[in-house]
Amino acid sequence: MNFDLNEDQTAYIELAQQFSANELAPNAAQWDAEAIFPIATLKQAGELGFCGLYSDPEIGGLGLSRLDSSLIFEQLAMGCTTTTAMLTIHNMATWMVSDYANAATKAKYGEQLTSGELLASYCLTEPNAGSDAASLTTKAVKDGDVYVMTGSKVFISGAGETDVLVVMARTGEPGAKGVSAFVVDANAEGISYGRREDKMGWNAQPTRMVNFDQVRVPASNLLGNEGDGFTIAMKGLDGGRINIA
Ligand SMILES: Cc1cc2nc3c(=O)[nH]c(=O)nc-3n(C[C@H](O)[C@H](O)[C@H](O)COP(=O)(O)OP(=O)(O)OC[C@H]3O[C@@H](n4cnc5c(N)ncnc54)[C@H](O)[C@@H]3O)c2cc1C
Repeated sequence: MNFDLNEDQTAYIELAQQFSANELAPNAAQWDAEAIFPIATLKQAGELGFCGLYSDPEIGGLGLSRLDSSLIFEQLAMGCTTTTAMLTIHNMATWMVSDYANAATKAKYGEQLTSGELLASYCLTEPNAGSDAASLTTKAVKDGDVYVMTGSKVFISGAGETDVLVVMARTGEPGAKGVSAFVVDANAEGISYGRREDKMGWNAQPTRMVNFDQVRVPASNLLGNEGDGFTIAMKGLDGGRINIA
């Protein structure tokens, strides 16, 4: 088996290395010390394609493999681990839109996410559903052409600063098969954010609770079909874990 990097991979690594050395590393300590979420730099990363690394080119993604994406994240993380972690989460949420949204939702959010114009958070964890994510209780009840979403998410990276939330909520039976995934506008009526959690490090991205009080989410914002949410969440994390590592 040949483990050598090909020409494309070498070029991606060089580009990421330059961005990391010029834009991330010189600022990382200050961002952490002053708890600055570097939105402008994240958007700059988007201009280089780093906000839609493995999303479909149809919505402006680069369509790279997970391996190629990891090579890029590895370089970026050398400059600022926290900002890179946020980028990996944004990439994961963007990929969910890329692979599972219907045409209208892709048209509405897709290119703005891959370009970094909009930033996304991923909302799975709840106060009583961490490792056992399939026990989540945030619910989404269908009411005509909307789902009414109620519940709370906790430890959400970027929350309060991002524009779009990919939310896992219960639409059916208890357990994994009753979970669905939705794209939700982060400023929709009924959404409120908790205080910025205190953390040891990783201060260049806020971590907050997100509360949903009868938030009306267009039914067309469902990702995949009802009941697909847990599979989508786990598929995302399969790659997300490699990226975080
Ligand atoms: C900085 C930060 C950012 C985060 N960002 C996000 C985000 O953007 N989106 C999101 O959805 N979530 C996010 N999370 C949440 C993260 O995914 C959860 O913390 C994680 O899933 C663990 O859940 P928990 O904290 O409730 O721990 P618990 O599930 O309560 O686990 C606590 C401990 O018990 C152990 N444990 C649990 N169950 C068992 C078992 N059955 N047998 C043996 N041991 C067990 C675990 O390994 C762990 O060591 C973030 C967390 C942090 C700290």
